[in-house]
Amino acid sequence: MNREDAATAVEELLARTVRPNVTAFAPYASARDEFVGKATVYLDANENAFGSPGAVLLARYPEPKQEELRQTIAALSSTNETVLSAEQIMLGNGSDQIIDLLIRAVVRPGVDRVWSVSPSYGMYAISTQLQEGEYREVPLDDNFDLPSRLRDEAFEERDKLFFLCSPNNPTGNLLKSEEIRHLLSRFPGLVVVDEAYVDFADDEGMISALSSFPNLVLLRTFSKAWGLAGARIGYGIMHPAIREILSRIAPPYNMNTLTLSCVEDALKKVVWKAQQVRAIREERCFLVEALQQMEGVVQVYPSETNFLLVRFDDGLAVPLYAALLEQGIVVRDRSRIPQCEGSLRITVGTREENVRVLETIARFTT
Ligand code: PMP
Repeated sequence: MNREDAATAVEELLARTVRPNVTAFAPYASARDEFVGKATVYLDANENAFGSPGAVLLARYPEPKQEELRQTIAALSSTNETVLSAEQIMLGNGSDQIIDLLIRAVVRPGVDRVWSVSPSYGMYAISTQLQEGEYREVPLDDNFDLPSRLRDEAFEERDKLFFLCSPNNPTGNLLKSEEIRHLLSRFPGLVVVDEAYVDFADDEGMISALSSFPNLVLLRTFSKAWGLAGARIGYGIMHPAIREILSRIAPPYNMNTLTLSCVEDALKKVVWKAQQVRAIREERCFLVEALQQMEGVVQVYPSETNFLLVRFDDGLAVPLYAALLEQGIVVRDRSRIPQCEGSLRITVGTREENVRVLETIARFTT
């Protein structure tokens, strides 16, 4: 799709998708939104001109639009075929904030619907419920793929968002890209593909579909492969017109100075990040091989992520979870989630941590 066709398509999409009050209202303009350029005296934002108490100077509000960082992220996320621009990048206080902004931008309480699949990441449902939207889940098939019946689903104008997670949490697999493309071609609203774990996959994800489908939004995060969960930063990749809508409703200065500077530093360490991903993938292999040979383990699901979903013999998962806890080891109990019965989700740790988990499981099951 060329640039003009995409702009027309996204304009039509936003006209029928965005809540009328979001389009109509005048967003808050912070002091630093109104002034561009460099000054020598800043007395516009009621900051403390004398300084701040710690070692880091934090007396000034952060840069509101994060132009440079968005530019760097756009360049780093680009591929040979898909070159991204800063206008396509929306930063959030974790990708969780982008999920929330997307929902608040389009879902009219009590009227509109949000779709997702199950099992998948819990925040899509929670943010929808907070907005009083209707939440519709399509169960994944036995291989945790998008079910073929999704192709026949009759969507309505009030279907505003479809959240997919690929590689999926908690199942660990990539969703089939042809099925995602099919959905993109017929869903009336935005299709969000959450790629929080794509760095660990043997696949570059859905980025190449952005140029053909202006209704596609990708979510990425610094919390996983980049090792910055504590900094709370994630981002969305989308058509600039969609980004413009989200920036209207984002809180002023939603990214803080500490986070921005720590991510700017981190982005210089692409080699470090690549090494981390390699190490985590190696540990994932080690864990898979060890778990597959253990008594009590029914299945280790294939994973393109930094965690494993492991199904245990009937009745084992819950007491095993407790036994691990007793040893000071916390994993995620997914055994009450439909299609994940009997399963625990285990994040890939360091070799030492992984060995402790394996030893504890072995003691419990033999
Ligand atoms: N999406 C998925 C699929 C996740 O698993 C998580 C975190 N568990 C998030 C988004 C949220 O990530 P962030 O830390 O960027 O808010």
